[in-house]
Amino acid sequence: MLGTMLPRAVATVSAAALGHNLTQLAARSGTKLLLPVKADAYGHGARIVAAVAAAHPAVWGLAVATPQEAAEIAALDLGKPVTLLTPPAPEEVPELVALGVRLPVGSLEEVERLPKGAVAHLKVDTGMNRLGARPARAIEIGHRLAARGQLEGVYTHFATADEEDLSFAREQLARFRTVLAALPPVLAHCANGGGVLSFGALDGMNLARPGLASYGFAPPHLRPVLPLRPVMTLRARVTQRHTAHPGETISYGALWQATRETEVAVVGMGYADGYPRNATQKASVLIGGERRPVLGRICMDQCMVDVTGLEVAVGDWAELWGEGEITVRDVAAWGGTIEYEVLTGIGRRVERALA
Ligand SMILES: *Cc1c(COP(=O)(O)O)cnc(C)c1O
Repeated sequence: MLGTMLPRAVATVSAAALGHNLTQLAARSGTKLLLPVKADAYGHGARIVAAVAAAHPAVWGLAVATPQEAAEIAALDLGKPVTLLTPPAPEEVPELVALGVRLPVGSLEEVERLPKGAVAHLKVDTGMNRLGARPARAIEIGHRLAARGQLEGVYTHFATADEEDLSFAREQLARFRTVLAALPPVLAHCANGGGVLSFGALDGMNLARPGLASYGFAPPHLRPVLPLRPVMTLRARVTQRHTAHPGETISYGALWQATRETEVAVVGMGYADGYPRNATQKASVLIGGERRPVLGRICMDQCMVDVTGLEVAVGDWAELWGEGEITVRDVAAWGGTIEYEVLTGIGRRVERALA
């Protein structure tokens, strides 16, 4: 914060909720965790989450999506390995290796380019058709990496482990196991959150990579599997209070019209902060001890809330989502999207803090 500027909107991360989820997920998978902290730890603040997670006994390491994220987390020197999940450009490799970052490898060309001291996780494409080598080629690459003393892990990624029909995920698992069987024993990992919740402990695996589940969310059919706790609470301050008279409208498009004297709180949270504009005319917030509707269009920087009859003053906080009555899942549903997109869409104007 600069000088006298007060926080306008704050996303607080509950270390207790995160720790609880990590313990639950590690117990269910029967492995340590390679915790995804990509995309600013799913919007929670990568530095905050990485520091809490690195101190957790169930966490083996931290996983990121981009070389920039890898450099940022590795520079924190948290004492746990940082693993990059998507291929870096060749010119980025030396710096990543110097920082101790584990590199994804999915081709022989990448093996040949690895400098001394590089540590690789071989990426196997078992059906996602996104990254990595097909199984037969992966075995060849794995042998080459092992011969160079650079093979630390082998991994793949499920396309459908969070769905009710697990037949394709089981096929992917079988393909992955054929690769593991052909290679010397190293760290094997395949399960995302859906995989951990759907499959539980998987023979032969020694790490798991639950992302969204670590932050407290799972698809409806997997929710009964573990008691996960939402990690983030998002709050924003009231910046003005006024009264709308019958017949007056509120916000862009004049969508909402008052039919009675309506006391309105303007809250400093808009779509530029990640509050989905598509939640217009569906959203509600917790304010003054009650659940109250958002009135009219959600704007770029603010939204308006019906606080009729409530003791709410300028500077008070509204809760947009948290562990209570309104969760990220509700906001995602109002916005016609998924928890992943809402969380990773939280803007830079929202402060991140540890609770
Ligand atoms: C993002 C990601 C994960 C975590 O996925 P969730 O669905 O959030 O559990 C795991 N592995 C890889 C390779 C990923 O890209």
